[in-house]
Amino acid sequence: MKHQDLREEVAEVARQMISSGLVTGTSGNVSARTPEGDILITPSGVDYEIMQPEDVVLVNVDGELLDGSLKPSTETPMHTGIYRSRQQVDAVVHTHSRYATTLACLGWEIPPVHYMLTTLSGDGRIPLAPYTTYGTEELAGYAAEALGESRNACLLQNHGTITVGESPEKALSRTVVLEEMAEIYYHARLAGEPILLTPQQIEEVATKISGYGQSKPASVDAE
Ligand SMILES: [Zn+2]
Repeated sequence: MKHQDLREEVAEVARQMISSGLVTGTSGNVSARTPEGDILITPSGVDYEIMQPEDVVLVNVDGELLDGSLKPSTETPMHTGIYRSRQQVDAVVHTHSRYATTLACLGWEIPPVHYMLTTLSGDGRIPLAPYTTYGTEELAGYAAEALGESRNACLLQNHGTITVGESPEKALSRTVVLEEMAEIYYHARLAGEPILLTPQQIEEVATKISGYGQSKPASVDAE
């Protein structure tokens, strides 16, 4: 994809984070890997509703500024750390979405309570990366470790969410699923003791979802 198209997608997904209610103000950030292997990332402290594609900043995979008049997101080290550890990942979305962050503040991970979690993580579990100061290489390391080799989502303790994908749109759609799952799990925990799916039940769903060439895991039907 051309840089300009990718810039527009990053800016559009940042706007959608606001319009969908996943984030407010300037919290949360979006990035994408270019065909050359550099990173386009939302700028720091700019209201996403008025942000333009030209405001998206280009950095290399070590976070050094290549092009842009604005400062890159303060969370750039976390994004670049994930791109360095996961070669197949081409987009990262980070939010402080309400329910997922509520769980992260309680120190809860999400266990396999719903089959849709398999679209985010093969074992149906969304892990929690330990707390450390935002914007640090240490946080990048914790996030990369929680995501492991194949997970598409994790929680950051006392902070928020990370989702990854092959495009910013895909990573955002996974944030929407993660937030929905977090809300359901939170309410289930308040009301009682949630029933967890067994490893066999999770594996059956994972096989079913990945077994069809035309399947779109993030938009799987409710049956
Ligand atoms: Zn954050």
